[in-house]
Amino acid sequence: MATDLGIAVAKIVSVNPATGTVLRELECAGKNDVLAAVARARGAQGMWAELGVRRRIAILREFQRRLHENKSEIAEAITHEAGKPVAEALTTEVLVVLDAARFLIDNVYRLLRDEPLPHGNLATRFKSGRLVREPYGVVGIISPWNYPFSIPATETLAALIAGNAVVLKPSEFTSLVALALQSLLHAAGVPQHVFQVVVGDGATGAALVHSKIDKLVFTGSVATGKRIAAAAAERLLPVVLELGGKDPMLVLDDADVDVASSAAVWGAFLNAGQACLSVERCYVHRSLYALFLKACIEKTQQLRVGPGTDSETDVGPMIHERQLRIVEEHVKDAVTRGARILAGGMRLPDLGKNFYMPTVLADVTHEMRIMREETFGPVLPVMAFDSDEEAVWLANDSEYGLAASIFTRDNTRGERLARRIMAGTVMVNDVVSCFGISEAPHGGVKSSGIGRTHGRFGLEEMTRLKYLDIDRMPGMKKVWWYGYGMNFTRQMEGFLNFRFARSLGARLRGALRAVGLVNRKQL
Ligand code: NAD
Repeated sequence: MATDLGIAVAKIVSVNPATGTVLRELECAGKNDVLAAVARARGAQGMWAELGVRRRIAILREFQRRLHENKSEIAEAITHEAGKPVAEALTTEVLVVLDAARFLIDNVYRLLRDEPLPHGNLATRFKSGRLVREPYGVVGIISPWNYPFSIPATETLAALIAGNAVVLKPSEFTSLVALALQSLLHAAGVPQHVFQVVVGDGATGAALVHSKIDKLVFTGSVATGKRIAAAAAERLLPVVLELGGKDPMLVLDDADVDVASSAAVWGAFLNAGQACLSVERCYVHRSLYALFLKACIEKTQQLRVGPGTDSETDVGPMIHERQLRIVEEHVKDAVTRGARILAGGMRLPDLGKNFYMPTVLADVTHEMRIMREETFGPVLPVMAFDSDEEAVWLANDSEYGLAASIFTRDNTRGERLARRIMAGTVMVNDVVSCFGISEAPHGGVKSSGIGRTHGRFGLEEMTRLKYLDIDRMPGMKKVWWYGYGMNFTRQMEGFLNFRFARSLGARLRGALRAVGLVNRKQL
């Protein structure tokens, strides 16, 4: 029996959100399938780790070459299953992954290399310390539908290059894109069991969380993230949680209205507003409020809504009707409480059941759901503020903290305010694009999550840090071992004086006493 979301009981139905056409039906992986996939991954991981970074880099290069060669097919597959315009699939999905591969190819050897750790403590100078980064083993990845290629692929590449095997549970709405990623990786030389996709719904995801994976990287809603964190806590499974956002955009009184309004319109409507980094709340200095709204309305009205396969389309469909209903509820709540709809505000049934007009709302307040809950749809709610102080307060008045943006002609002022905003990323004079900077860590604070993906810090999440301590005097008993007594206490006090006393005299006297530490009788 199929539900309104296209999920059948033991089948996953992939649907084109623009047309409602069924693309494919797939078997839903059950608990035993997940456990078997994890066991196969564990069996294959050792050899993959032993292959060494350089050999894995060669495979990653081949993946990058194949992805580049097949960029148009992959972009079209993304558009068919997730709805976004092909142009967006190329820029925010294919390009992001090609560049993530570039980052790893160029940097992974240096970043994963053992690191010497010099000791400052005189007592441990005879030891040589080293930081070693080891793969976790099997990394489970659970991903959402809104960036069905770039999210799982960037996380997967980092996990694989570090020597882990990966079991990916993609969103039930975008299984085919995940299977396309699997084909590319296998064709590039990643062994079959080192990267596996388990197609399924929330129950399949839950089975992966409860399986014997060594680390979990989850991207999705706050509600699911909290459930996963609770399940992971039972066995202290390390997790990265990339969760929802309610990103604020501040337009300061010296901002260029044309630039800021273009950014707001793109930041709010890109991917039909279904981006974790979408501009979900816009605050404009009162002196620019009317001008800014006028520019946003004009630009919004020029946007062409339609199927993502049409090259003229700016805004595609939403993923499914349930998501669209959330948008309608938020807009209705805002209007009931006094907000004004200046553009859009309705469905476009002639295009299909998942199309919603890009919508600009004015006079919103923080009492409205549209300013507090993640809307995840094509809505730009705009509110006026009177001072920088108030703008920062409004930006921080949220349970979320994924990203934020500030528009100003004065970068120094922008940076000063950026430091005061509670978010994983703050952009000055741009929106959303931080996700495409392969070097930049991606992740949030507060309810937006724990941990980071992308760049050096995303790679670090895929490794366990081991401290290796090698004593260079194997034949010597350590002075802190047994052999306590009055003498030892005095000698140790002497040593502490030698190291930390302020006066030179006390330090010299301390040194004389401490000499006894080396010669004393020990067990
Ligand atoms: P979701 O939480 O409904 O689902 C995400 C994934 O979790 C899916 O694969 C789903 O099948 C799986 N899942 C559901 N229940 C589960 C359970 N109990 N145990 C294990 N897995 C389970 O989210 P969604 O609707 O797919 O995605 C939209 C959300 O993702 C938004 O909130 C958005 O902000 C967030 N998101 C965050 C980022 C980020 O980087 N911070 C990026 C993209 C999307």
